[in-house]
Amino acid sequence: MRSHGTSESFVKMPTIKFTKLFINGEFVDSVSGKTFETRDPRNGEVIANIAEGDKEDVDLAVRVARAAFDHGPWPRMSGFERARIMMKFADLVEQNIEEVATLDTLDAGKLFSSLKDYELPDAIKSLRYYAGAADKIHGDVLKMSRPLQAYTLLEPIGVVGHIIPWNFPSSSFFVKTSPALAAGCTMVVKPAEQTPLSALYYAHLAKLAGIPDGVLNVITGFGPTAGAAISSHMDIDMVSFTGSTEVGREIMKAAATSNLKPVVLELGGKSPLLIFDDADIDMASDLALFGFSFNKGEVCTAGSRLYVQEGIYDEFVKKLVEKAKGWIVGDPFDPNVCHGPQVDKVQFEKVLSYIEHGNREGATLLTGGKPIGDKGYYIEPTIFTDVKEDMLIVKNEIFGPVVVLMKFKTMEEAIRRANDTTYGLAAGIVTKDLNVANTVSRSIRAGTIWINCYLEEDRDCPFGGYKMSGIGRDLGLEALHKYLQVKSVITPIYNSPWL
Ligand code: NAD
Repeated sequence: MRSHGTSESFVKMPTIKFTKLFINGEFVDSVSGKTFETRDPRNGEVIANIAEGDKEDVDLAVRVARAAFDHGPWPRMSGFERARIMMKFADLVEQNIEEVATLDTLDAGKLFSSLKDYELPDAIKSLRYYAGAADKIHGDVLKMSRPLQAYTLLEPIGVVGHIIPWNFPSSSFFVKTSPALAAGCTMVVKPAEQTPLSALYYAHLAKLAGIPDGVLNVITGFGPTAGAAISSHMDIDMVSFTGSTEVGREIMKAAATSNLKPVVLELGGKSPLLIFDDADIDMASDLALFGFSFNKGEVCTAGSRLYVQEGIYDEFVKKLVEKAKGWIVGDPFDPNVCHGPQVDKVQFEKVLSYIEHGNREGATLLTGGKPIGDKGYYIEPTIFTDVKEDMLIVKNEIFGPVVVLMKFKTMEEAIRRANDTTYGLAAGIVTKDLNVANTVSRSIRAGTIWINCYLEEDRDCPFGGYKMSGIGRDLGLEALHKYLQVKSVITPIYNSPWL
């Protein structure tokens, strides 16, 4: 189904204010003077020309971030003072929420209403959550077996490189930068080339909030050039990356062959959603559709493998297909729309080629499978059944609104098949049986398990992958500790009455 109406009837289109690199508190051209186009996926038209950063620009940004770390006020000020500035940053994002939501909708085709009501408020919460932790970072006093006194210090890790993807440009920006800021690190952020606009806007707001120059730098540009310069840089102390498993491997190699910097990798997934016979079919089919179609399936935790128990299979399929047919695809500024266009032509063609593959491999297409309209990158929610587990559409991450639907008999079989993947990012379970929910959640090798819900998350829940879905965790206090080094300080004690 398509929506009607033009974007201008829903929101005021902003002028694009920030298109240059942000280094040492200033917007500057790239050293090469080159730019690249960022395009609107609703129609493929150019939104703006953006400075194209490369190795020389990353070098400049790292130099100022290093100086800000080694000599600047940010790592030296109290956690309380850093928190005060981060809170101001959060307030400024909140005051400009409509404008940044518009930028992400224009750049990525994401739903404007969902950005404004959920993703951006959550991004702001990231700043406030870690601001709340900034003055509670401390080590331990240690118990020693000899006449020694020892304690640990938690120190900021140094200059951090953040490389982020296009599917959640704002949420990723703050999930990465907030704990690093709270820890007292300085940083170079590279947004995805498809979605540079909001990160540049945040750089401007960071300066207004009082984050000192050199602490937060933004280099827009491409992965193999600007991104690779970050992961291989000898003076970056850590890289935090969110993106594909293939690129994650490159990042790890570059980190290993440069200065052995630690990496946090949040990578791809092919997450299973298991629906048991006792499930409420209406609720389960809503969750399933949302799980694979939300954000046009451009979600690392998309529930893209659906396992339904045999007792309710037929009825469930009927409900799901009916609901998928009523899911409105169209202009992401329209509040009635359920999903907008895929982020760009490359992603659009990739998803369509997987659909073609599924058809060729003999899967049955229950609904969808087609692009919508003659301009923009819109694809209908697509459901395949009669699939075999070695088919590409079952094994590979498609990153589009496509699901494969399979039937199972027993819980043991469902667990085995759910785990039959190289990924381990997330899984969902729908059942009223507490024993089933407990057994399955402990048996699936994945970083997040949702029971009777899907895609829920919050700031205090660590997020990340088992197996080839990643290393380390974002969110929660787990993430804060990734940006801290532990130092042991030991001194002899004399004539102490006890150890
Ligand atoms: P991608 O890996 O192509 O790009 C991600 C980022 O890495 C971009 O900024 C890109 O410019 C940069 N990059 C590309 N090549 C690089 C290189 N050689 N060296 C350094 N940086 C490089 O991924 P994508 O297509 O932008 O995003 C989709 C993928 O991200 C999916 O696989 C998805 O599952 C994953 N993802 C994971 C999570 C998570 O938290 N686990 C969240 C969102 C997306």
